[in-house]
Amino acid sequence: MDLKSKIRVIEDFPEKGISFKDITTLIKDKDAFSQAVNLIVDDLKGMDIDYIAGPEARGFLLGTAVAYALGVGFIPVRKPGKLPGKTISHEYKLEYGSNTLEIHEDAIEKGKKVAIVDDLLATGGTVSSVAKLIESIGGEVVALEFLIELEFLNGRNKLEKYHVNSLVKYD
Ligand code: IMP
Repeated sequence: MDLKSKIRVIEDFPEKGISFKDITTLIKDKDAFSQAVNLIVDDLKGMDIDYIAGPEARGFLLGTAVAYALGVGFIPVRKPGKLPGKTISHEYKLEYGSNTLEIHEDAIEKGKKVAIVDDLLATGGTVSSVAKLIESIGGEVVALEFLIELEFLNGRNKLEKYHVNSLVKYD
């Protein structure tokens, strides 16, 4: 199945000039959803992954399904103030302003191998922040998996030290 045909593109959301890739239309289709999850799982097989991590909120939709199908646990990376235990934070710059993400400081045992799953790679700022959080608590980031990659933003360039995989590309 052509996964791209299941993604709905909505112009000028959340602001004028943005061409938003809406994955709700893909994940409601049982065949497209399972194909996407299985393709990510296939890419991760043989890498000896211990955990999947994913950022709030769309990273949870795919990340938990991938973790379940791969047979490993899931670690949520959340917006400030949402995780109940002791956390560490990382702030990163957006085009306008900044964003902060948090992880439980005891979420990952030292040396465990982690793959990050998110819906979309744009500039790479979000996934870099998630990788920094994981590495700062002793995890080893071995792969970055995305449903969608916006190739014209060249996010991949700042992620050279990782294995990066995406299923649907827009250029
Ligand atoms: P980046 O940090 O610039 O790579 O942006 C990626 C993050 O922004 C991901 O966590 C996405 O969920 C979100 N994002 C950016 N553009 C879109 C879009 O068109 N559709 C869905 N999510 C998006």
